[in-house]
Amino acid sequence: METTVELEKETERKFILLHDRPNCIGCAACEAVAPDFWEMNEDGKSDIKGCGRRKDGWQEKEIEEGDFAQNKDAAESCPVNVIHLANRETGEKII
Ligand code: SF4
Repeated sequence: METTVELEKETERKFILLHDRPNCIGCAACEAVAPDFWEMNEDGKSDIKGCGRRKDGWQEKEIEEGDFAQNKDAAESCPVNVIHLANRETGEKII
């Protein structure tokens, strides 16, 4: 029973949110548009909340379908297009 619940949670995460953090210019638009997911860091760039960084400085986080719209708005608000969304299953880049 427990395993079934875990599997269902796993399949709910349908997208990968990506942040090319090294190229973020720190305009804070993402935080304004999607404050549940984005916050400004004291180094002047934004962070995906609660998300670590890859060795190349990018951040990536699996998100659920219900979190897609807010992060798509954040991506569309980014003036330098460093926020991306991809399909978790296929790897297809959405934005
Ligand atoms: S909107 Fe883009 S450039 Fe501006 S802080 Fe967010 S990720 Fe960085």
